[in-house]
Amino acid sequence: MKTVFLKNASLIGRDAKVISGQDLFVREGLIEAILPAGSLDSDKKRKELLPEQIIDCSRFYVTPGIANLHVHTAMNIFKGIAEDVDPDAWFNDRIWPYESQMTPEDIYVGTRLGIAEMINNGVTAFADHYFGEEQVLKAVKETGIRCSLAPTVFGTAPDFADRLAQVSEFIRDHREDSSRVAFHMGAHSDYMCPAPTLGQIIDEAKRLGVPVHLHLSEEEPQVLRSREKTGRTPFAVMKEAGGFDLPVLIAHGLWIEEEDLPYLREDTWFASCPKTYMKLAMGNGGFYRFCDDLNYGFGTDGAASSNTLNPVEQARFFGLVEKYQKENAEVHPAAELWKHLTGGQDALPFGAGKLTEGSPADLVIWDLFTPDTFPFYDPVTAILYSSNSRNVRYTMVDGEFLKEDGRLKLDTEELFADAIRLQKELLRRGKGSAVIFY
Ligand SMILES: [Zn+2]
Repeated sequence: MKTVFLKNASLIGRDAKVISGQDLFVREGLIEAILPAGSLDSDKKRKELLPEQIIDCSRFYVTPGIANLHVHTAMNIFKGIAEDVDPDAWFNDRIWPYESQMTPEDIYVGTRLGIAEMINNGVTAFADHYFGEEQVLKAVKETGIRCSLAPTVFGTAPDFADRLAQVSEFIRDHREDSSRVAFHMGAHSDYMCPAPTLGQIIDEAKRLGVPVHLHLSEEEPQVLRSREKTGRTPFAVMKEAGGFDLPVLIAHGLWIEEEDLPYLREDTWFASCPKTYMKLAMGNGGFYRFCDDLNYGFGTDGAASSNTLNPVEQARFFGLVEKYQKENAEVHPAAELWKHLTGGQDALPFGAGKLTEGSPADLVIWDLFTPDTFPFYDPVTAILYSSNSRNVRYTMVDGEFLKEDGRLKLDTEELFADAIRLQKELLRRGKGSAVIFY
């Protein structure tokens, strides 16, 4: 691994404060040193640090890499397939006819498409939640991004016991593969894993020593149905199954209630995906009311419901929707959104998300001198409210550039050709009502 020298950069850590005039050295995947600009002017330092690649960052901002805390990455193959429909029709009429017909190649190519989009937007690590884990793992390893995979288990499936054993074996076989790969146990949700299956999945996660990643209280009807069937909220069902005895990553929790709060621990994390909530009109649950007391970062959910895999955009919507609903422009100020956007890395086991010596070199280098963001007064608000993927000039994971000088390392031409071929085949097999326009 080469030594990279980011010369004369402005650094923005989690506290949203800008520290200008810094030299940052990356070696062996770590931030080796952060020194005042001009450090290479000294012969001694030059010998010590031996940079092989020097990037003049005097017009750039360097921030921690961004985590996407909940994504069904392979669903990028379905981006745009189900627009302007309610959640029931979204799933039953528009998604499932095709999703149930997916081949391993669809999952592989869909995951690569999603990873390309994430790297393009400065995502350095993501929490995937999907089946077809062999394909997901292959795509992750080939592209160089970090991922905690949650191979999904449905308690309602006829082959539940076999599937749980298969996932368990997969995690055991691959957990030491790479420092860029980790695992969560992917229970789908309380409603797709009724008792006793949820408890069995959680017990298996405890045996393996991995956290759990599942959907809880996404929509109000789920909470009402849970109360009707079990007399409890989905969070209480999770608690009863032993699910809060270990670290948990909760997708959404949009309809969390006050009585659910005592179940949560320091290592209970939430992935908030507001674009999906708006798009599928999922209502206004308790999450915003309680979020000051919750550990949360941003997820994107799958591209079939949110159209993009850009956590910056999710943070933007998170703030805007609440300002609008509360009729109060002062709620969720930029520094708070930034803290959650960058701090989401703590929900994943990679130790990234900090601009400190010895931390993993998972970084984004932003160029805000583009028509989208320029001029700006505060780079943090420019990123949060004005930026897009064109402002991400470099994405670095583990000391390696996956996007360099505005270009992805991944060959997107080949990927797009594969995707077009697979889309056509999927539409034929799925026999649903979707069409493509090319
Ligand atoms: Zn989801």
